Amino acid sequence: MNAKIKGWLSGLHILRSLKVRIFIMILLVGIIPAVILRYTILQTYMNRAVNVRMTDIQNQCKILANHLINYNYLADNTSDVINAELGMLSDLYDGRVIIIDQSCRIIKDTYGISEGKTMISEEVMKCLKGESTAHYDEENYYIEITTPIVDTLVKQDPLYDEDESQETVVKGVMLTSVSADNIQTNLDILRSRATVMQMLAAILLLAIAWVVSQLLVKPFDRVTTAISEVKDGFNTEQISVPDYIETEHIISAFNDLLGRMKAVDESRQEFVSNVSHELKTPITSMKVLADSLLMQEDVPVELYKEFMVDIADEIDRENKIITDLLSLVRMDKRASDLNIESILLNDLLERLMKRLRPIAKQRNIDVLFESVREVKLEADEVKLTLALSNLIENAIKYNVEYGYVKVTCDADHQFALITVEDNGIGIPPEAQEHIFERFYRVDKSHSKDIGGNGLGLAIARNAILMHRGSVQLESEEGKGTKFFVKIPLIYIKRQEGK
Ligand code: ADP
Repeated sequence: MNAKIKGWLSGLHILRSLKVRIFIMILLVGIIPAVILRYTILQTYMNRAVNVRMTDIQNQCKILANHLINYNYLADNTSDVINAELGMLSDLYDGRVIIIDQSCRIIKDTYGISEGKTMISEEVMKCLKGESTAHYDEENYYIEITTPIVDTLVKQDPLYDEDESQETVVKGVMLTSVSADNIQTNLDILRSRATVMQMLAAILLLAIAWVVSQLLVKPFDRVTTAISEVKDGFNTEQISVPDYIETEHIISAFNDLLGRMKAVDESRQEFVSNVSHELKTPITSMKVLADSLLMQEDVPVELYKEFMVDIADEIDRENKIITDLLSLVRMDKRASDLNIESILLNDLLERLMKRLRPIAKQRNIDVLFESVREVKLEADEVKLTLALSNLIENAIKYNVEYGYVKVTCDADHQFALITVEDNGIGIPPEAQEHIFERFYRVDKSHSKDIGGNGLGLAIARNAILMHRGSVQLESEEGKGTKFFVKIPLIYIKRQEGK
């Protein structure tokens, strides 16, 4: 990019500043009316001055034209009185008076240079027809006026003495050219005064525009400072800039974000401490078991074996926690990591239950499957299996001897609908909203006995949400629990950034 375009773009960049925009707007609001006002006032003044001058001269010319007739000047231009009057008129208005007769011959020119010549112009011809004209030449600053020299003839009817009629005859034309220099001079003085006033007003306006733009934008600077303080860690409280409704909106949105970030941070900290705790527990048990073996002498082989079985159990527990944690981390990744394929849900559930039935059998729990219709859907088989097996495993784990687990598979036109129902121990109402949280267990000791770490439902929920589905539950303590899973039949790809 060449330097000129770069400079031009950086110039445009300045216009994106609110401060600069307010500044320019105030300047425009002040300057545009001032310029229009100046033009209108000066133009009105000039029109008015020219009109007054024209009327003035036209009146003078009319009076003089009458005198010309009275003195029969068109026939004899030697009248001293008239010549003196013509001289006075031209002196008074700093102009030139030309008298033209009916045959367009100049019989008098106060400049004395055109006498005897013929003058034919549009104005003179019009005037000879009785129409006076007035014209202002703006370029050369002079006013030109033609006045008809009219004689009134009185006609008498030869038959009736008393009947008289008047007839007007244009005997000549009085052409007056007058300088409008003084009007122009006045206009120039006015113009220069207006310019000075406008310069002063512009300076004042610049100062006002600068101050106002600074003041108006200040609250936004305060918003930036307040947010920077939070960012730099000087302020951890909720911030407030109540100057404008707009800044209040920005700040309240920011406070919401801050609240969410704090919640995320707290949950992250809690998660880390939970993970450390959960990972430490089996290790502590193993250490205790190993130490007690080491501290005793002549330990019988049976005890060794018994302790080693316990240690192996703890290792399994540790392994399960780590596997579950890895599954969770994978679920936290983006939905684009899903390996979507077409799945026959009925088959998947049947395979799952075949695998889990032996475990259920140990506690005489019946695992039933009701397939309402054949359901084909687009999903990630591994993740969906993980989600559903966690639900069914829980239904078996938190069940009672001789209880049942019933899984149904159905669909509407949009969703696959799976329910997992048991008549087990149920979940107390206050715990129902927490059971999908990581590491949450209703009864820690009971859950630990049956090998729970509180990650199963979190994994299940994440996997279902990745498919843009939903999971809900109904449960009554001592009666049983029912989970409802809804997954779109056709996978809807999530748009990036959503
Ligand atoms: P866990 O590994 O402890 O089973 P989960 O996340 O799978 O963790 O479940 C969280 C808690 O929810 C369990 O500890 C248990 O108390 C409760 N829970 C889950 N499923 C059921 C169920 N079907 N019946 C009763 N309680 C359940």
